[in-house]
Amino acid sequence: MGDPRGFLRYERSGPQRRPVELRVRDWREVYEPFPAEELAHQALRCMDCGIPFCHEGCPLGNLIPEWNDLVGRDLPAEASERLHATNNFPEVTGRLCPAPCEGSCVLGIGAEPVAIKQVELEIAEWAAGAGLTPVLASRPTGKRVVVVGSGPAGLAAAQQLTRAGHEVVVVERAERIGGLLRYGVPEFKLEKAVIDRRLAQMQAEGTILRTRTIVGPDSAEVDGAAAPGATVLPAQSLLDEYDAVVLAIGSTRPRDLEVPGRELAGVHVAMDYLKGANLACEGSIAEAPISARAKDVVILGGGDTGADCLGTVHRQGARSVRQLEILPSRRRRARRPTRGRPGRWSCAARPRTRRAASGSTRSRRASSSATRRERCRRSGPCVSSGSSRPGGRASSPSPALRSSSSASSCSSRSASRAPSARAWSPSSAARSTAGATSRWTRRT
Ligand SMILES: Cc1cc2nc3c(=O)[nH]c(=O)nc-3n(C[C@H](O)[C@H](O)[C@H](O)COP(=O)(O)OP(=O)(O)OC[C@H]3O[C@@H](n4cnc5c(N)ncnc54)[C@H](O)[C@@H]3O)c2cc1C
Ligand code: SF4
Repeated sequence: MGDPRGFLRYERSGPQRRPVELRVRDWREVYEPFPAEELAHQALRCMDCGIPFCHEGCPLGNLIPEWNDLVGRDLPAEASERLHATNNFPEVTGRLCPAPCEGSCVLGIGAEPVAIKQVELEIAEWAAGAGLTPVLASRPTGKRVVVVGSGPAGLAAAQQLTRAGHEVVVVERAERIGGLLRYGVPEFKLEKAVIDRRLAQMQAEGTILRTRTIVGPDSAEVDGAAAPGATVLPAQSLLDEYDAVVLAIGSTRPRDLEVPGRELAGVHVAMDYLKGANLACEGSIAEAPISARAKDVVILGGGDTGADCLGTVHRQGARSVRQLEILPSRRRRARRPTRGRPGRWSCAARPRTRRAASGSTRSRRASSSATRRERCRRSGPCVSSGSSRPGGRASSPSPALRSSSSASSCSSRSASRAPSARAWSPSSAARSTAGATSRWTRRT
């Protein structure tokens, strides 16, 4: 344990968000790089509990106290090894996970929990900066495995199977690999170059990635979720050709809302909207088929997907946005005692948190934002106004939106671009020199 009094010495802190006025004009990630000296302090807040409940809260069983300790002692390579021991894609969970570990952190009983997710992300980015070297299998098994679906579940399974020595093929019906990480989660929450650099490691390890291939019965029609021109691979052929088949096809079916007016023009399910926006962002299509530009928008739902729609709507240059959420506000729910911790959320409740972090453009400085977030018990019928407005009165546009046109396409950056620079990356000297002042050296 780096500092037994760390939790008394240091307050919890997190990265700054980029200014609202700036980030609604582009698709880059919302958060600024996290300062290195702060990182060590955050790791040193960990009490290295005898019974670490963070461990229990994490579905991956991440070895949290171990890597907190290693970061606190300035040993990034060792921390990275411990982190990757249980987590194939910590750069993704460090950005997107709802962090039930933090909801379970013992320090959270009487203070703010350890910033576990941030420490995880910084270790993952250190590892990426050092180079994600392929982990090669010690010997081939001669077995062939096909993984259907290239979302995080399929990719993690494929990576583990390849490292175990099997010949692994991932088949994906979409244009690119990544599942909802690619076409659900927007660029401003997860820059797609982060996925690409991990895919490069997987390919170097021997995993074969095959896109535009839809697995189904012989008569399967290529549905809207598949890339144009996708070929159909009969399910039987997989059983004939491979020793094992992993199905990791996610859930494409949206939960619809059966209310009067659902059939009106201009009412869309989130993934139809977000996929088009992401395809346009990556440059696969010229323009998003559904755009919020100059429209008055209502978003039903205030979870992750709602927040992603909100951020996308802002960047496309909507005239106004209103978001409706059926659950009580965070403040009201936080009053419920959870494991004897007033003000904290249970692990089970956390994923249902109303998201604001990356989607909302609201801040103290932009309190007059066009975004209105409301909660309601029941949503009333949609009212056709004969215009692009889905109903309800519109609030006035924010200064940021009034002055800006929609964000430029993220594809204007090179496809092989590096993800947004983070504050810390390893220099070769830092990696090789024992006893250097700090191994977490600042990137310029
Ligand atoms: C907008 C949005 C935002 C989200 N944000 C977060 C977040 O911030 N944090 C978080 O923890 N979770 C988030 N999630 C949830 C998270 O993305 C999913 O839980 C996760 O992607 C599921 O992974 P998966 O691999 O099971 O499935 P998916 O990611 O859905 O991948 C399944 C893949 O299988 C492919 N496939 C399906 N059928 C076939 C077939 N017959 N042949 C070939 N390929 C096929 C699909 O095209 C798809 O690429 C979000 C989800 C959405 C929609
Ligand atoms: S529960 Fe919190 S304080 Fe305890 S080991 Fe885990 S991260 Fe550290």
